[in-house]
Amino acid sequence: MSEPAKNERYAEKDRTATCAFADVVARAAREACEAQCPGFLDATLHSTEQTVLAAILLTHEAASPPQETQNEPKVLSLGIGTKFVRQYVKEADKVHGCRVHDAHAEVLARRAFLQVVMREIAKLHRDGTSDFLITDPETHRARLAPGAHLHLYTSSTPCGNSSVRRWASGKPEPPVPTDLAAHVWPQLPHGTMSLASRAEGQIAASVKRDLQTTEDEEEANHKAEDSTTESANGNEVATTTADAESVHMKKKKSKPSKSKPVFASGTAEPDSGQGNILSCSDKIAMWNLVGLQSKWLVDIVEPLYLSTLVVGRKFSRRHLERAMCCRLQEVPACGPYRLHHPVLLRTSVKLNSGNVAQDAEAAFSNNIAVHWARGDIDGASYLRGSKSRIEHLQESSSRVAATKLFARAFRCCRTYLRK
Ligand SMILES: [Zn+2]
Repeated sequence: MSEPAKNERYAEKDRTATCAFADVVARAAREACEAQCPGFLDATLHSTEQTVLAAILLTHEAASPPQETQNEPKVLSLGIGTKFVRQYVKEADKVHGCRVHDAHAEVLARRAFLQVVMREIAKLHRDGTSDFLITDPETHRARLAPGAHLHLYTSSTPCGNSSVRRWASGKPEPPVPTDLAAHVWPQLPHGTMSLASRAEGQIAASVKRDLQTTEDEEEANHKAEDSTTESANGNEVATTTADAESVHMKKKKSKPSKSKPVFASGTAEPDSGQGNILSCSDKIAMWNLVGLQSKWLVDIVEPLYLSTLVVGRKFSRRHLERAMCCRLQEVPACGPYRLHHPVLLRTSVKLNSGNVAQDAEAAFSNNIAVHWARGDIDGASYLRGSKSRIEHLQESSSRVAATKLFARAFRCCRTYLRK
């Protein structure tokens, strides 16, 4: 990384990692991306087009002392992308389900992860071994092995609720022991959150906004997001009376109405007619409630939960706590399902460690989406879109499209149910 010239700035602001483990995870994701998609990140990041990288990773607590040592994180799946299909494309695809509707990085990484889970289930039944699953002796379903942990990394804060900069004061970061080993993460409990601002949309779901003007709005939104203030340690906080203002409200430059819910830039109320794909904040919140394994595999897998969530750009602990889990704190546990609060970690590792012109704005205009799952014999799969949508993708054969995944999950359940 070179120092920015006089008329340049860093593409991403400097941040301080919560702990060494957060950076270990982010580096592992980057390295996997470089290995599976050679040259892609370099090419992307040397253009003005930015993107988001997400990964699901696995760690094991070491079997031998020192007990607290974790093995090196293993990347199970990758997703890259910031686009989704227009409403009419999703509607038209309702019957066949052969398209990838949501190509946001976190969503692709989780879809690819499902492929890994199915491979592991097959392995578990075939020869009794798996990288991270065991058979539960009571339910006979696969479950996460003792000492195995799943982690989600995303290079930028998830879209939707976690991007709304309201309903939280800029509390100081909780203390983190400085002597943590590189493969250990701290326990940072979320506590109970006040949900007194529901009428303003504090706990509301939101959809990715699909308007003809969205393309221009996205640009504007990201400009607005980049104008938010980051503290020295990179935890995004507001330092003025704008503390209670969301990015959205900054853009609108108007006082929020108490009766009108606030939604993050680029998202809208679910029944507004402006979109029909849930925001990533909502999807991740659901994973923290019911697990990552999807409804298709519930008959053969116990819920699989995340231990940590590692975020790069725009990390804000209080807003992430709310968006990723705590807004669902009143949902009662049901059977094996109960709300999990992953440990939230900020990484100092930048996806784009280069420099850009001083007045350049972040433009998430890269139109290529990528997914990769450990075990994919033909490497990463690329989905190419139009300028800002993926409606023209030739992804009818994508292995992460709903039809393909469902068919595979169905075969998997039929083969391994109560076997
Ligand atoms: Zn929480």
